[in-house]
Amino acid sequence: MLGETHVLVANISLACLSQEERHILLPRWGGLESGATLSDEFRIMWEPVTAGSKQKQLVHRCYVDSDFEKDHGCVTRAVDHANGSISFIKDYLKGDLDDAYNEVEFLENLGMFLGIASHHIADLCTPIHVGHKIDFKSLGYPTLSRFHSKTERDILRNHRQLRTKLAKPKMVDLTTEYFWDIARYTYENHFLKLEGIYRKGNTESILDMSSEIVSNAIRHTVNVWHTIMAKTGMTKQKWSMQPLP
Ligand SMILES: [Zn+2]
Repeated sequence: MLGETHVLVANISLACLSQEERHILLPRWGGLESGATLSDEFRIMWEPVTAGSKQKQLVHRCYVDSDFEKDHGCVTRAVDHANGSISFIKDYLKGDLDDAYNEVEFLENLGMFLGIASHHIADLCTPIHVGHKIDFKSLGYPTLSRFHSKTERDILRNHRQLRTKLAKPKMVDLTTEYFWDIARYTYENHFLKLEGIYRKGNTESILDMSSEIVSNAIRHTVNVWHTIMAKTGMTKQKWSMQPLP
């Protein structure tokens, strides 16, 4: 996904949260927005599988059609930032971070972590991030990366016509399996159909797929953010800088 699409996903996801949750995060839009684009802007490509590990993974992909663990980093980064946000909130509420962050800094950083989680969730919903075995040459593209850019530019080009489906937030299990399921769904339902759609150059099918990709990215982001906020009791606390009810 391109930066503008990541920002769109984060923006609509914020709007889908409950009013109480939205009021905590709305003043932190700057953190959410920069988190949603940070991984691309800083060109963060590789990350250790676990802290201190020498083994590294590529973080913008979870190739379902690859057996190499290095190709599955997007799941690792989504799991880490979702669960990392929970520990971060719990530590702050316990007072363990009192020396390091005041409330404004804590919320700004939390916004960024949630934005990063959204970025990688959205990547897991993007077909070309979950598979690579495709005959791009027969579709007229010299490299996979050129075809990759084409499909992402098409999503961006369709922004105004997207038929996004929005749903109420629900609790999910923030496990590796949960994020893998998102990647597998995208692979089976979208990646495997890419070749057929692009061979015909069917703009209506491309619009349909773009709408589903963005809707899924929003739905999963909303569920993950809501789960993080609910599990930590964020809405039960009083926070400054909230809009008037
Ligand atoms: Zn990415």
